[in-house]
Amino acid sequence: MSETLLRGRTLSFVRWPDAIEDHGAYAYEEDGGLLIRDGKIVAAGTYEDVACQAGEGAQKIDHRPHLIMPGFVDAHVHFPQLQVLASYGAELLAWLNTYTFPEETKFRDAQYGRRVARLFLDEMVRHGTTTVAAYCSVHKQSAEAFFEESHARNMLNIAGKVMMDRNAPDGVLDTPQSGYDDTKALIGQWHGKGRQHYAITPRFAITSSPEQMEMAKALAGEFPDLHIQTHLSENHAEIEFTQQLYPWSKDYTDIYEHYGLLGSKTLLGHCIHLSEREADALSDSGAVAVFCPTSNLFLGSGLFDYQRYRKRAKSIRIATATDVGGGTSYSMLRTMDEGYKVIALNGEKLNPFASFWQMTLGNARALSLEDRVGTLETGTDADIVVLDSRATPIMRLRMEAIESLAEELFLLQTVGDDRAVHEVYVAGRPAKGDMA
Ligand SMILES: [Zn+2]
Repeated sequence: MSETLLRGRTLSFVRWPDAIEDHGAYAYEEDGGLLIRDGKIVAAGTYEDVACQAGEGAQKIDHRPHLIMPGFVDAHVHFPQLQVLASYGAELLAWLNTYTFPEETKFRDAQYGRRVARLFLDEMVRHGTTTVAAYCSVHKQSAEAFFEESHARNMLNIAGKVMMDRNAPDGVLDTPQSGYDDTKALIGQWHGKGRQHYAITPRFAITSSPEQMEMAKALAGEFPDLHIQTHLSENHAEIEFTQQLYPWSKDYTDIYEHYGLLGSKTLLGHCIHLSEREADALSDSGAVAVFCPTSNLFLGSGLFDYQRYRKRAKSIRIATATDVGGGTSYSMLRTMDEGYKVIALNGEKLNPFASFWQMTLGNARALSLEDRVGTLETGTDADIVVLDSRATPIMRLRMEAIESLAEELFLLQTVGDDRAVHEVYVAGRPAKGDMA
């Protein structure tokens, strides 16, 4: 048995924070304690109360004055796009063809995939992210590389090999049958192994033929408890091309509905230009719209209407994500900062508690993982980020004048990045030291 006792300012959410004054939405301890035993949180509260439950041999780590929070959750990111980050000048379809597909071709080579998987998960940990929903390349070996690395680090991650059989170079295409077979083999090999979760991953309707969509439907039927991840309604040219490829469909969302791919474990990247009918369809099915602000701005895709989706009569479940290489940062702090600006351009604001709820408990709920991560509640996995609000000279200066937790969180979100990540725990183990 291994026990660790953390001390610091602990912050964990219990529900959506409606306003800065909504103090019932979170639990905050100025002198807080967390007791971790064998990778799980077994006690949380004031340091005084928690410390007396610790055994003699417990390792004590004092993180004061830093903030101890649940590790961040990133609901949509492409691990093979490390070398695509910062590619100039294109909108979605040209960006895929010019930069992304050629780079993903390299993941045919298992060795290359293993190297990038290691560097990718290093980046996640460095930025305080302990769980991701990741797209691998089309190659089975890219998913194997991802899961091997994730499992070795004991991280709770969701991932899947993309299924794509048309409208891309040969080097990144499978076939309806091989996409099905490889997916099924990977599910058998990895889903439920340690903390690994498999997601059925048709890239999007443009790169999957109707035959492949039938295969995705078959997999969703055979494995109804798995996540499904794909892209929806990111860019006008994409929507138009999709309509040409599926001329019978009412709209883009209708295609995924038709193939039985909309449900409460479906993660739909982007969802920027949805009609009211499509928004209703997402709401009725419980599917999640994943907001990727840095990517939407970088590729010029559009402004995700977060508050409208949240407040409409039939509300939509929302997650947030980096979407790198389309996005520009692996940091969920940078992501929520850009998210705040996108929401502001739509005439609304997002309060800082809601931002931090979103990147922890909110995203965990969107991934149906709230009983494991996104919270500091006892019985959950000890995936934790420790944040330093004085990590840079300007943050130290601003902190001199900051008087409330809300102001501190807003500072962290507005100017914070990986430098503000003091330590990360994955299943109770300090993880920054594991990095290559
Ligand atoms: Zn994406």
